[in-house]
Amino acid sequence: MSEATSKEKETEKSGNKQSKGENAEAGASDSTSGMSVNALRRYLEEKLGFYDDDDVEKPSVEKVKVLDEVSLDGIVKYIKEKQCKNIITMAGAGISTSAGIPDFRSPGTGLYHNLQKYKLPHPQAIFELDFFVENPKPFFVLAKELYPGCFKPTVCHYFIKSLIDKGLLLRHYTQNIDTLERVAGITDDKIVEAHGTFHTGHCLGCRKLYNQEWMKERIFKDEIPTCEICPGIVKPDIVFFGENLPEKFHNLTNKDFAKCDLLIILGSSLVVQPFASLVDRVKDGVPRLLINREKAGEQSKLMALMGMGGGLQFDAEDNARDVAWLGDCDEGCLELADKMGWGDELRELCKKEHERIEKETDKEDKSESDEKEEADSEIKKED
Ligand SMILES: [Zn+2]
Repeated sequence: MSEATSKEKETEKSGNKQSKGENAEAGASDSTSGMSVNALRRYLEEKLGFYDDDDVEKPSVEKVKVLDEVSLDGIVKYIKEKQCKNIITMAGAGISTSAGIPDFRSPGTGLYHNLQKYKLPHPQAIFELDFFVENPKPFFVLAKELYPGCFKPTVCHYFIKSLIDKGLLLRHYTQNIDTLERVAGITDDKIVEAHGTFHTGHCLGCRKLYNQEWMKERIFKDEIPTCEICPGIVKPDIVFFGENLPEKFHNLTNKDFAKCDLLIILGSSLVVQPFASLVDRVKDGVPRLLINREKAGEQSKLMALMGMGGGLQFDAEDNARDVAWLGDCDEGCLELADKMGWGDELRELCKKEHERIEKETDKEDKSESDEKEEADSEIKKED
């Protein structure tokens, strides 16, 4: 809601600027304003046949050459030469799929199929607050199945952690609610969980705060987590449809994206707003690297035709900054790390951390089964 309002304000502002004629020349290449007067005029002139293509005035401002080469190598050279230390990473479901977590927000993953017995009016209802208040059971069934802590972070998660360790990362913005970033050791000050997290929860009645362990205990006993001081349901702090994004998201985006010297988008199809439009919040001369199975977040043809910015421009003739590396996120991160000279270090970190997590999970499983055995023998005694 608040995002929409601020966008309206931006449009209003740029509208005013143009009507005063202050920004007429810059208009054609200005990616932040709405449609510029110049671009509209040129578009109409072409369409009405006033000028041949050759006669159309080219924008006077040459695009700055950001990358020597629009490729992964170009990005590596840029990082080294510019001594980047304010990299922002943006991540979506694609960074967690190799951990075994399906992109469960999209229907057709099979997960919704298991929930049919709960008679959801539509798949998304599981993340709708009104439905949740009436019938929280399906959400918690899904939550149990996908519970964070049962999965190991991916190479991609440890790549982001490595960026922090090397002093290169300003902030990591994630759409994921699986908390794998935290498991990988990405600390609270370095992460913005745009769609919330299972890390904490609140009572819908009195807003009392509960931690992940408290919720997990109940969810795994197939109970609906209920507040200890009022009859309210305790909902994990993940953002449901129609809910506002966390305050941290709004507080940090403006500051962070103005400072950003390289944007790396990992495993996101960049369709969910307002997250997707963050790619336009970095300054014009800042390179943007997408590591994903397919191209995403591209400027639409209509927008381009009208001289409006917005979106990544991999295939634009004058593209000097947007690189698409297509393929598996883990592989992309490893290749980048290799080119940076710390690929083996990253492999070693993954191996070490996975071994540590496996050991801990084994211990937990063992103590759980011990507890069960004890409980069983208690019952036998009582008999
Ligand atoms: Zn309460």
